[in-house]
Amino acid sequence: MLENNIDIRDITAVNPILCTIPFNQVLVDELGNVNLCCGSHIKNMSPVAGNLFSEDAKRIWNNEVYKTFRQSFTDGSLRYCNEKSCSALANKQSPEARLLLHTLEEIRCDEHLSKSNYSSFSDSPDTFDGTLTGMPTRLYLGIDPSCNLKCPSCRDALFIDKSGTERLDTLYGNLRSITPGIEFLELDGSGDVFASKWYNKFLRDFPVSDFPNLKEIKFRSNAVLWNRKNWYRIHPTFRAKKIHACISIDAATESTYEVVRGDSFQTLMENMYFVRELLENGELESISIVMIYRKSNYHEIPVFIQLGKELKADTIIINPLQAWAQSAYSINGTFEDEAIHHPSHPEHHRLKQLIDENNIRYGNDGDTFIDFAW
Ligand code: SF4
Repeated sequence: MLENNIDIRDITAVNPILCTIPFNQVLVDELGNVNLCCGSHIKNMSPVAGNLFSEDAKRIWNNEVYKTFRQSFTDGSLRYCNEKSCSALANKQSPEARLLLHTLEEIRCDEHLSKSNYSSFSDSPDTFDGTLTGMPTRLYLGIDPSCNLKCPSCRDALFIDKSGTERLDTLYGNLRSITPGIEFLELDGSGDVFASKWYNKFLRDFPVSDFPNLKEIKFRSNAVLWNRKNWYRIHPTFRAKKIHACISIDAATESTYEVVRGDSFQTLMENMYFVRELLENGELESISIVMIYRKSNYHEIPVFIQLGKELKADTIIINPLQAWAQSAYSINGTFEDEAIHHPSHPEHHRLKQLIDENNIRYGNDGDTFIDFAW
């Protein structure tokens, strides 16, 4: 059993408010850890509920860590969630903004919510001990860091796991107890699925009977290997699901792409037109494209938005560079040198001017949603 240093205090119960993540979702990282939520969102305990290299997912789902965490929502304290990094919690008082959080009344009045895993609590709140009778419905995998690129915002060396598929076969073996309940699957938040030896096999031989309820998939990729040949290698049952493409690009021109990605912009664009063709043919449900902006590429934000519209992206995500522990951060220098969104950065005023002149805002822009954050 995992040791989790949980800080337990006397709690005065207030009104329950439940978050969909610990009641419906499982997030698995490249170490095989099952995480309660994003690590930076959790405080007073470790975000890790268990590890799939040594434990079965079904056992982890109702272990003491998960039960204790869920009870922090039913007693209304939310004492393990960090309001400084979780926007749902920061907006707890605003029902329109706290999309992940639901009161007992909201759950009971909503057919979908009342039939979800929330029912283990809402049907018998007085006896709820954190155990759920239902299994998770959403699975987020970030399990293989193998990638064909080494972007400076992410890593400083190329990594392709050549050690074979045994390690991830073991992890997947311990996941299979929950896959029958999964309706939504996201892969792979850690590397690129087309560069991964394990995913190549998993997608080609997709284990259809392990996922009888799968309806939707979010496919994360840099698209440099998302060509016709690689796409049609994927099992037809997998491709027949509702597939959302989330493609990280970071640039809108060849010269900047070379700097921030170090690969061929021409190959990328050929593949992006193929991805757009899949959308037009109905083989994809949606496209979103992502730019992590910093000093090296922020000047292309307006052109990036135009590119997204040309590619028929319904969502364009433009977010600032984050300080990851394993990142190389910058082309020349340090994270601080690239972090142009910081008001103290010497070029911050130029970013601000560009944003104002081009009226770049968070929200709908015609048919496109711009997820822009400072
Ligand atoms: S309230 Fe925020 S921090 Fe807590 S589980 Fe939900 S999303 Fe994560």
